[in-house]
Amino acid sequence: MEPGSFAGAFQRFKLILPDELHGDPVLGRVGKLAMSNSYIMAIGADHRQGDNWVLPPPEESRVIRISVALSLLAAAFQGATPAPGPPFTLKQVAPGIYAAIDRDTRAGANAGFVIGDDGVVIVDSFQFPEAAESLLAAIRRLTPLPVRYLINTHYHIDHVAGNAVFQRAGARLIGQRNVAAWINTENLKFFTVDQARERALVATIPSPDLLVDQRLTIRLGGRRLELEAAPGHTGGDLIVVVPDARVIFCGDLIWRRWVPSLIDATVSTWTASLEALQRRPDAATFTYVPGQGEVATLADVGEFGRYLADLSAAVLAATGLGATGDDLVAAALPPLKAKYAGWTEFEHGAAREIPLMAAELAGTKRVPRGLPAEHP
Ligand SMILES: [Zn+2]
Repeated sequence: MEPGSFAGAFQRFKLILPDELHGDPVLGRVGKLAMSNSYIMAIGADHRQGDNWVLPPPEESRVIRISVALSLLAAAFQGATPAPGPPFTLKQVAPGIYAAIDRDTRAGANAGFVIGDDGVVIVDSFQFPEAAESLLAAIRRLTPLPVRYLINTHYHIDHVAGNAVFQRAGARLIGQRNVAAWINTENLKFFTVDQARERALVATIPSPDLLVDQRLTIRLGGRRLELEAAPGHTGGDLIVVVPDARVIFCGDLIWRRWVPSLIDATVSTWTASLEALQRRPDAATFTYVPGQGEVATLADVGEFGRYLADLSAAVLAATGLGATGDDLVAAALPPLKAKYAGWTEFEHGAAREIPLMAAELAGTKRVPRGLPAEHP
């Protein structure tokens, strides 16, 4: 199947809401919601009809907590009308270095690129190949230099679905060792069993063939890129440091004022990676390109780290009182809401992540198993 049909297969669809929820069909994009809202995965198998999703009234649902899911979905879809223009905003963060910041979830995540003396390196390839094509066109307008490498900061579908676009343009694909292990398998969990086309396409996303255990240096003439393992969001995260320009592409290690997904996270490891990032020499002078949200500063990195610490503390306090299930969410949410209610995705993300945090603290969380390092 043509990679170009990937986005068309699941990017946009019509969500038909039951009467209780305002009635009017609204447009949305299932891909991002599949990533960001685990509820839709539960709903999807029963309620997808062709390109539309028809959601039942809450009382008819066989899905646990569907009334909650419906209200969350309604809120999520209200602002989802596609905006005109490119799916990202290109921001020059240093000479020859650009962040491509997602617009209205149309790219699915942030990406970026570095123009060196003798070639271009791209960091991440978005959730939709159309967005990757648009980024490639933007690069071509800026420089005739060859596209030499595409770095995947981690395996999640919203950072790798455009890999084929850059591979066709001549880029070698680079990722942490575990990205190669998970890119064509673990991404299946973001799609429902009846999304056969999407699942088939996940299996064919080009995988990195240049694999990094801990560190790798790329030279683009006089410009140097340092790739460093920084796990926590997944077990296979890389950051990309451009020392001469004081820019760090952080992938989903950083979500700026945005409640992060913990689906594959180990927060204790994540916290250690964030602390190491903040301890780097001259950390305050760097610009940080996050995986989600606007271009960030060191203060934003610190704020994000405090969110994870506050989440962990709130969950620990609630479980210490014996709370479980819905009671745990109800007990842990208020202290987070007091500080982070204005963050993107707080409304439905924070409650969703609390049980995942609790599972990690209880030692019961399952995350994808990584490959052993070949050069320990
Ligand atoms: Zn991610």
